[in-house]
Amino acid sequence: MDLLNTLVDKGLRRELPTREEALAVLATSDDELLDVVAAAGKVRRQWFGRRVKLNYLVNLKSGLCPEDCSYCSQRLGSKAEILKYTWLKPDEASEAAAAGVAGGAKRVCLVASGRGPTDRDVDRVGKTIEAIKEQNEGVEVCACLGLLSDGQAERLRSAGADAYNHNLNTSEATYGDITTTHTYADRVETVHQAQAAGLSACSGLIAGMGESDADLVDVVFSLRELDPDSVPVNFLIPFEGTPLAKEWHLTPQRALRILAMVRFVCPDVEVRLAGGREVHLRTLQPLALHLANSIFLGDYLTSEGQAGQADLDMIKDAGFEVEGTDNVTLPEHRLPKDRQSDEASGCGSHQGGCAPCGSEAAPESDAVAEEPASSDARTDLVAVRRRGAGTDLAPNA
Ligand code: SF4
Repeated sequence: MDLLNTLVDKGLRRELPTREEALAVLATSDDELLDVVAAAGKVRRQWFGRRVKLNYLVNLKSGLCPEDCSYCSQRLGSKAEILKYTWLKPDEASEAAAAGVAGGAKRVCLVASGRGPTDRDVDRVGKTIEAIKEQNEGVEVCACLGLLSDGQAERLRSAGADAYNHNLNTSEATYGDITTTHTYADRVETVHQAQAAGLSACSGLIAGMGESDADLVDVVFSLRELDPDSVPVNFLIPFEGTPLAKEWHLTPQRALRILAMVRFVCPDVEVRLAGGREVHLRTLQPLALHLANSIFLGDYLTSEGQAGQADLDMIKDAGFEVEGTDNVTLPEHRLPKDRQSDEASGCGSHQGGCAPCGSEAAPESDAVAEEPASSDARTDLVAVRRRGAGTDLAPNA
C-alpha cells in the first residue's frame, strides 16, 4: 500500500505526514488494519524498540471540580458516583506511588482536580514530590494540576517535578463544545509555561467524544506543533452522570487506527495508551503495544483498569518488555543537549535524515471526515474506582 510505505518512510525520518495522509489512515478498512498496525509498528520500533514505559496515576484530590469539562466524571455537576476526597497527605500519596513503582512504573503522575493550583497547593505538591523521590530512587514525577499561573511551573521544577501534563484533548474548533469554563488557548499557554520552565511537557487527546476525523487530525497536528515529549491518547470513558454518557462511538479497530495515526504524526514522542484502553480496545489491547510505547499501569483517576499483573502479562505475552530505569525513554535527539552523547546528532544511531520536529506546517485539506463507527455501549466495562488512593483498600499495581 503506497500510503503506508510513504508513512513509514516519513516516520523513520521524523517528517510530518500531510493532513490527507493522516486522514487516510483513519479511513482505512478493517481488511487493511493489520497492515496499518504493522507499518506504524515499524516507526514505533525505530524510536523505542520493544520497550513499554509504565506510568502510575495517583489522584491527589478527587471530584468537586468547578470546571465543566463534559468528558470528566469530576466536573461541576457530575452525577457520577466517583470517590470524592480532598488533598492526600504527602505520605499517603507516596505510599500509593510506591505500589506503582513496585509494580514496575517508572513515572508517577500526580493529578489533582480543579481549575489550577493555588500557591499553597504548589507547596503541598512540592512536599509530595519530595516524599516520593526520597522513597523511590530514580522515579520520574509528573504533575497534572490544571492551568498554571506565573511562576508555578518554575516552582514545581525546583521542587523536583520532571514533567507537567496538560492535555489539549480536542481540536481548537470543537473545544468550546466540550468545555466552557476555560479555553483551548488557556491550555496551550500552560503547556508553554511548563516547557519554558524546563519541565518535560506531556499533552494529549481524548478520542471518542463525537469528533470528526478532521478534528482528530487537527488536535494531533496541533500537538506535533506544540512538541511535547509525551502524548497520552485517551479513549472516552462515557461515565453515567456526565454529559457524554451516551457517546459510545469507538470500536477496537478505530482505536487502533487512531493510535497509528498519532504514531505517524508524532513518530519519536512517547505515545501513551491512556484511559479507556480496556473499555474500547478490549481483546485487541496487545496490538496497541505495537503503536504506543507507554501505558498506565493499573487503575485510572476515577475508574478501575485491569489488574496490574494482567498489564505485565500482556506486555510479556505480546513480546514487549517493561522499560527499566536504566533505559532513557526518549530517542537521544529529543534529550536536552547536556544529556546527549558527544557523537549523537539528529537521529543518533538511526538511519535517515532528520527534519526538525514540528517544523513543517500542516497543508490545508478538504478531505471529508468519516463518521466514526458506532459500537454497542459497553457500560459493563466501566468500573468506578473503589480502591487505592483515597480509600482503605490496597491500590491496583
Ligand atoms: S479541570 Fe480537570 S478535573 Fe476539572 S472538570 Fe476539567 S478535566 Fe475534570
